[in-house]
Amino acid sequence: MNRAASRLQGRPPAFSYHDRKKGLFRRSAGSVLHCDDVALSRLAERFGTPLYVYSATAIRERMRVFEHAFRKVNHTVCFSVKANSNLGILRLLAQTGCGFDVVSGGELERVLRVDRRAAKQVVFSGVGKTAEEMKAALKAGILLFNVESESELWVLAESAARLKRTARIALRVNPDVTAETHPYISTGLHQHKFGVPIAASRRLYAQASGIRSLSVAGVSVHIGSQITDVKPFSEAMVRVAELVQRLRADGHQIDFVDAGGGLGIAYKERNLPDFEDYVAEYADALLRPLRGLKVHLLLEPGRSILGPAGALLTRVLYKKTNGAKKFLVVDAAMNDLLRPSLYNAYHEIAKVEWKEGSSVSATVDVVGPICETGDFFARGRELPISDEGDLLAILDAGAYGMALASNYNTRPRPAEVLVDGKSVTVIRRRETIADLLRSEL
Ligand SMILES: *Cc1c(COP(=O)(O)O)cnc(C)c1O
Repeated sequence: MNRAASRLQGRPPAFSYHDRKKGLFRRSAGSVLHCDDVALSRLAERFGTPLYVYSATAIRERMRVFEHAFRKVNHTVCFSVKANSNLGILRLLAQTGCGFDVVSGGELERVLRVDRRAAKQVVFSGVGKTAEEMKAALKAGILLFNVESESELWVLAESAARLKRTARIALRVNPDVTAETHPYISTGLHQHKFGVPIAASRRLYAQASGIRSLSVAGVSVHIGSQITDVKPFSEAMVRVAELVQRLRADGHQIDFVDAGGGLGIAYKERNLPDFEDYVAEYADALLRPLRGLKVHLLLEPGRSILGPAGALLTRVLYKKTNGAKKFLVVDAAMNDLLRPSLYNAYHEIAKVEWKEGSSVSATVDVVGPICETGDFFARGRELPISDEGDLLAILDAGAYGMALASNYNTRPRPAEVLVDGKSVTVIRRRETIADLLRSEL
């Protein structure tokens, strides 16, 4: 197996190279990148490109790893819907019995569409919940509101009182810990818009407990996203544990600790332990400070469940040379996968079809057709020589890929397919230009 192919070995069972079938007349000639048991080249032929491809096997497996790591404590894994909100993906996750973390009325509606009974395992986060969204969540009977400000507390209290319901709440506290990640996805410092300062939270808890339509039930944190060092999670949990003890001493009944999401994945770093050990380390970092507190732990992973389980499949439209610079213009663009443009994020790009002996590589920029210099997937990247018509897979695109897609440049969004072993299900058909124009007058 060639070098690029062997580098993908850390990714099974989602994406791996299989040898091309040896036919009667055709000798083995290289290998083809597969999702589970299905060749990506076949998917591209059947469904066109750009195309999001997900491995059901990988999603279930990653979920199992989370469940296993926290098996010794009362816990609920609430998948963060904003990472990937496709109904087909949510349905697959709901079948594993997990709960969901939603940040809007729209995301709540998606969860209810998939399984009404999942509502009792839904937590609602976000700094700008509207009264309408709160009412929908109250009617659905969700598990917990993560309240992020004093004003929100009053609006929620009022909404619940009108519906003659009780809203179970946690305050999302800001633990003021530094996590090494991109500044746009770091959330746990006092200068960020999220949560209430941990020091001010006791006063708010006291106020909330005096309101009949509210039921104080937990403490919540979320310190950011794509955090690959478990230390900040542990630091945050130490502060949360202290707060839980104080609140209990103040007379509050604190049953839940919501540890948020944020565990990072190996986009580029090749030194992360394998997923099982990595999540075990993460579990240890969270559970150690909580020992003896007897709380029900809520977890809100998004990226770490879905990221490596999805890829964006794209075809090379044109090769182009400007002076010393070589470009591959592909049919996917920043509207389909925004992360490189938004965060200068790295995504590994793999050639789908390998021929024996094709070891030559070139340094190229992989760019999309959109009229923005920021429309790129890789810059100055050494890739195996590709020709016009070749297929590339942009890996680790399962989270914050399609979820962040837009129609910029009036580009219809890609189709999405879910592969499960040998079976393939279209979970979102390709958008058409007619779809885009429909709501305009
Ligand atoms: C975005 C978000 C998550 C999920 O973060 P990941 O990095 O995808 O695990 C969880 N909780 C809250 C409140 C979020 O905003």
